[in-house]
Amino acid sequence: MKNNAAIISVGNELLNGHTLDTNSNWLQQRLLTASVQVIYSCCITDEISEIKAAIEYASQKAGIILITGGLGPTDDDITRNAIAEFLNVELVHHPQIEEEMRKFFARINRPMVEKNKIQAYLPAGTEVINNPLGTAPGIFYSDRDKIIASMPGVPSEMKRMFDETILKKIENFAKNAQVFVKKLKIIGASESNIAEKIGNMMERGRNPLINCTVDCGIITLHIIATADTKNAAEKLVNDDAAKLSALLGEFIYSFDGESLAEVVGKKLLQHKKTLATAESCTGGLIAKQITDIPGSSGYFKCGWITYSNEAKISQLGVKKELIEQFGAVSSEVATAMAAGAREKSGADFAAAVTGIAGPTGGSEQKPIGLVYIAIASEKGVEAEKFLFGPRDRDFIRQRTYQNALNLLRLRLGV
Ligand code: AMP
Ligand code: MG
Repeated sequence: MKNNAAIISVGNELLNGHTLDTNSNWLQQRLLTASVQVIYSCCITDEISEIKAAIEYASQKAGIILITGGLGPTDDDITRNAIAEFLNVELVHHPQIEEEMRKFFARINRPMVEKNKIQAYLPAGTEVINNPLGTAPGIFYSDRDKIIASMPGVPSEMKRMFDETILKKIENFAKNAQVFVKKLKIIGASESNIAEKIGNMMERGRNPLINCTVDCGIITLHIIATADTKNAAEKLVNDDAAKLSALLGEFIYSFDGESLAEVVGKKLLQHKKTLATAESCTGGLIAKQITDIPGSSGYFKCGWITYSNEAKISQLGVKKELIEQFGAVSSEVATAMAAGAREKSGADFAAAVTGIAGPTGGSEQKPIGLVYIAIASEKGVEAEKFLFGPRDRDFIRQRTYQNALNLLRLRLGV
């Protein structure tokens, strides 16, 4: 029980489609790395009876009960009342909380309204948790068998409060088996492909447990080990990661959950190489992915979005005859775009893409989803043909930038 947690997300907005409950997802990830397993999670309305009932249910299942939402100053913020009812105590006024709140408002140059005073009331016997980002203080309760931590619903405030204060309290409460997790990211193979290659390593009940998830063409293998100490759990995970690396080789692009663009960026930095892009059907998505990474100015020179034939000709020096002979979506034009981008930018590597993203413009010979990706380097230009259709425009464009980044990764070597 002591290393089991329940998460209660409070708010009508979470049940009427207005707000996605991202808090519980974030907390689940944090708790896993703190060796705490979430065994129950729910969203409930802003009703004292509902919150109280959820706490009652959760307390039968888990030693750690985390609540987010319902700590604000408005009439629908009644988590504090529900906790008081559950603990069978009164709300008590804390003058120092009110004082802190006044200071908070003074700092942001706004008057404190009467309504905020309610936030200075906490269930008797509970501890106030400082909220450096807002006026709603958290509420903490503990006894021998359980802890209850009630945090604000605003994600930034909740996260800060959890990391600064609550996490340590949970770790002290749940001194027990340690969990270590690693995420291997894979591109270029299907789930069944992977399952076949790794054989019985995904057996249920095994330690480490390996779970497989897939999201937009990227497979993640989660390796989760439990042991008496963090070091022992880490060793179990690393042994499995080494086995998986031997079985899956180049399909694995990260052992630390990094994105493809991060991996490519690190390799470019490591080899002191620079990059330019020439994009047609992706309209700048590759450059966007690359420049999403802080520090990308250390290796990214420039990018072209050459959507029209004229732009391919005037900006990248693609020969007009080449387009006339093979068409804009062809291996020849992708190759010329990459070579032109490399030459004109002076970058060590250039990635070029040209394809048919749809929904119109496809033909029998050149169907929607046909994409050519070319990578130019000092070793020359290599172009590869991909068939991502028949799918929608977003899908085709996303697969295109992923595969362009992946080809760059492979070209950059280990
Ligand atoms: P509250 O603390 O209940 O006043 O919540 C303040 C705001 O935080 C809400 O209006 C939502 O926009 C947001 N919020 C509350 N709960 C969640 C949640 N579980 N996940 C994401 N956002 C939330
Ligand atoms: Mg609310």
